[in-house]
Amino acid sequence: MTAPAPIVDLRSDTVTRPTAAMRAAMSAAEVGDDVYADDPTVNRLQAVLAERLGKEAALFMPSGTQSNLCALMAHCARGDEYLVGQGAHTYRYEGGGAAVLGSIQPQPLEQDERGVVALADIEAAIKPDDSHFARTRLLALENTFGGQVLPLAYQVEATSLARQRGLATHLDGARLLNAAVAMAGPGGDAWVEARRIAALYDTVSVCFSKGLGAPVGSALVGPADLIDTARRWRKMLGGGLRQAGVLAAAALHALDHHVARLADDHALATALADGLSGLPGVQARRPDTNIVFVTLDALPAAEALARLRAAGIWAGRAGDRLRLVTHLDVDAGGIDRTVRAFRTLSGGG
Ligand SMILES: *Cc1c(COP(=O)(O)O)cnc(C)c1O
Repeated sequence: MTAPAPIVDLRSDTVTRPTAAMRAAMSAAEVGDDVYADDPTVNRLQAVLAERLGKEAALFMPSGTQSNLCALMAHCARGDEYLVGQGAHTYRYEGGGAAVLGSIQPQPLEQDERGVVALADIEAAIKPDDSHFARTRLLALENTFGGQVLPLAYQVEATSLARQRGLATHLDGARLLNAAVAMAGPGGDAWVEARRIAALYDTVSVCFSKGLGAPVGSALVGPADLIDTARRWRKMLGGGLRQAGVLAAAALHALDHHVARLADDHALATALADGLSGLPGVQARRPDTNIVFVTLDALPAAEALARLRAAGIWAGRAGDRLRLVTHLDVDAGGIDRTVRAFRTLSGGG
């Protein structure tokens, strides 16, 4: 009898488990009480990230959702409005928190497949200073968006338009380092690219628990006064953690050891997209980074998902497309098995 093949979990890059080296770093972490701001490991993480992203200050957060919400609440007061893409995480996938908890009105705008909101639409959505309207305060963009890098030239134009019109800018950079690694290319310095992007925005939120492979955590970076305001909101939202150095140690380990290797995830995602594109009745988009969207001509997504699962391949779903995400815990063997499982689905034997 052979042991069953291990599951290939491509639902998200959040499913990674901490490596042995990461667990060792967590176990050795020096800790304090971060609500008193005296956890040395949290303080070191915040200093390192702020420095690497060229910002004044950083704040460790329990989740990306809380990080984005604290940013929105730091930028916008009750009755203010933020401009955001229809498909953006902060608008669509965070439970409406900005409206519910921040009394901030979202103004969602159409986006293309790369996450671009047309400059003319941004311009047209900025409300005049008139008591009929919410006060437009902030433009929020997302990079990467659906595994695609938001073009740098576009980010320059959109953020300078926002600034000219007196708006603040926030980037949901949950996967900022995936974007930076893709931009840097082989031999390039991802941190140079990450700084280039971060410089365009007032605040940037980054996730440690996605491709970087930490079990928990995000951080918000930006000017010291905004980060102070965000710290007040974080406490009110229940995000004041105590001996959080155990978690910050995982994030620090990820920053030192798991950034350059994101290129491996991107290469596997490209290999997966290319492998799937060769199958009859399968359309797979080749991503800039680590997320592959797949459409099947003859099979509803729900059924494909169930049949893949029976073969030990766990995928996610986005509407009528399948979503497959590569990460630290997937290797070339897993990608080969995935392509083979799709071949059976598409009737190729
Ligand atoms: C994952 C993610 C977040 C934050 O999600 P949490 O699950 O709250 O950590 C925010 N934005 C984007 C684009 C994400 O992918």
